[in-house]
Amino acid sequence: MRLLLVEDDHLLANGLTSQLEKAGFSIDLTHTAKEALSLGKQEDYRACVLDLGLPDGSGLDVLRSWRAEKADFPVLILTARANWQDKVNGLKAGADDYLAKPFQSEELIARLYAIIRRSEGRGHALMAAGRFELDEHRQTVKLSDGTEASLTGTEFRLLRCLMSRPGQVFSKEQLMEQLYNLDDNPSDNVIEAYIRRLRKLVGADTIVTRRGQGYMFNDTP
Ligand code: CA
Repeated sequence: MRLLLVEDDHLLANGLTSQLEKAGFSIDLTHTAKEALSLGKQEDYRACVLDLGLPDGSGLDVLRSWRAEKADFPVLILTARANWQDKVNGLKAGADDYLAKPFQSEELIARLYAIIRRSEGRGHALMAAGRFELDEHRQTVKLSDGTEASLTGTEFRLLRCLMSRPGQVFSKEQLMEQLYNLDDNPSDNVIEAYIRRLRKLVGADTIVTRRGQGYMFNDTP
């Protein structure tokens, strides 16, 4: 799942990046309002963590501008103070949740998963598709025979993406975007290699290749 992290405190941003990557996100990090504004409008994010006090502007203005341009990914704002007005203004500007600094990264991650689930119309941490169940907290998939398999971070992100919209064809480029951030340069056949590994777990007929188009999670094999 691709996530935009907007935070000008470099120490906090770097720490959060590694925590969020462990939790299954691929992170684009920016320190400025200007870059955040254009990334949010151009890229396909599943969620955003947005600091309000940025060196070249206000996170609130960035958020208002995204919402005005129909960039509707869920946004969690970080407020420097436990100031109720910041929270109210953030929610009014289109934020989905907020967290006051200092905070525990576990709470941030739990809240992020919650707003992403709501944006996908789900109420709990299990994503079911066909005969399979994906557990977001434990990064495991339960197979049709009842056994559970642990997934690596990349396997989890790829399977989660496919299972989130069964029947939809994802191009290799779309999958790469959800798996890797702008600074990574993965080779072209990396997706194929991961698809092969996932097929060993869920069966070849569950992840279908559409020649020339991409891959699709088949929930009725
Ligand atoms: Ca700040």
